[in-house]
Amino acid sequence: MKAAVYMGIDRIEVCDVPKPIVGDNEVLLKVEACAVCGSDIRIFHSGNNRVVPPQILGHEIAGRVVETGAGVTKVRVGDRVAVGADVPCGKCIYCESGIGNNCLENYAMGYQFAGGFAEYCLLNEMVMHYGPVHVIPEKISYEEAALAEPLACVINGMEKVHIRMGDTVVIIGAGPIGCMMIPVARLLGSTRVVMIDNDLKRINQAKKFEADEYIWSGEKSPVERVVQLTGGLGADVVITANGSSGTHLDAINMAGHRARVNLFGGLAQNTTITIEPNKIHYKEMVLTGSHGSTPKQHRQALNLIASGMIDMKKYISHRYPLENITDAFASAENRDGLRVIVKP
Ligand SMILES: [Zn+2]
Ligand SMILES: [Zn+2]
Repeated sequence: MKAAVYMGIDRIEVCDVPKPIVGDNEVLLKVEACAVCGSDIRIFHSGNNRVVPPQILGHEIAGRVVETGAGVTKVRVGDRVAVGADVPCGKCIYCESGIGNNCLENYAMGYQFAGGFAEYCLLNEMVMHYGPVHVIPEKISYEEAALAEPLACVINGMEKVHIRMGDTVVIIGAGPIGCMMIPVARLLGSTRVVMIDNDLKRINQAKKFEADEYIWSGEKSPVERVVQLTGGLGADVVITANGSSGTHLDAINMAGHRARVNLFGGLAQNTTITIEPNKIHYKEMVLTGSHGSTPKQHRQALNLIASGMIDMKKYISHRYPLENITDAFASAENRDGLRVIVKP
């Protein structure tokens, strides 16, 4: 089969590799769509200790079941299936508690397990048993279903900040993930959504998602503007959806009393920021993080898309065949669009 194989830093080769052999409790998917995530690009350029090359990346996957092992009952040949990233090991204390995104093993598709940038993708026994594998609701396409993975991560991040009716929610980062946070914040009761980015192009392309206020940090101080917008109080909720450490500090500085701040965006390893603990102390602020998603949240994401409450088609800007995977990566990296889909 044809696959885009990550060979090491800044090296991906599209080549023929053996088609996976399907064991008793395993399933083979013909990949129909696999979206490019910022983390794929980070692995491509900087490596990752969970990814040992040669490996097939890609964890926002949707496809059709073409083969099942004798022991498989969860899906059948011909089923349309969406697959998320984080695969619970099923054994550690966190998986036992239903929070497999905190799993001590931290397995994921496109990391330790071969991912979706290939003609076929094997769903191994652990993935089939504990992983985010769900039949795609009839109404939605493979492309939309592939985006259930990032939406599940957004749902996880939004659950952490306990949005209440009437809350002002600030999202720092106008990329596809930040833009997915806008409708989810609304569904959870936010009456004012503010979006911040330092890239004017990003701000302009995010306007179709209809936040109440867009702040270009190249023009004005986002902290000052948010404080002003909230009558000097600060935001109820702030979420970072970007990889810049300065914005993580801004997030704390623009939050109000009893605010919930989620440092959602991953930063480069060993990044540090200096915070003033008294700000958190006197404002009784809650500072949290979030990482990945659970299989339950992946199912919720699919249901949300199928219900029409979130129009995933609006988040897809480019499509590439597998042969052009490096163009797909470049396009996602240039920030000249939103989600980029690879169609093997
Ligand atoms: Zn992702
Ligand atoms: Zn585990």
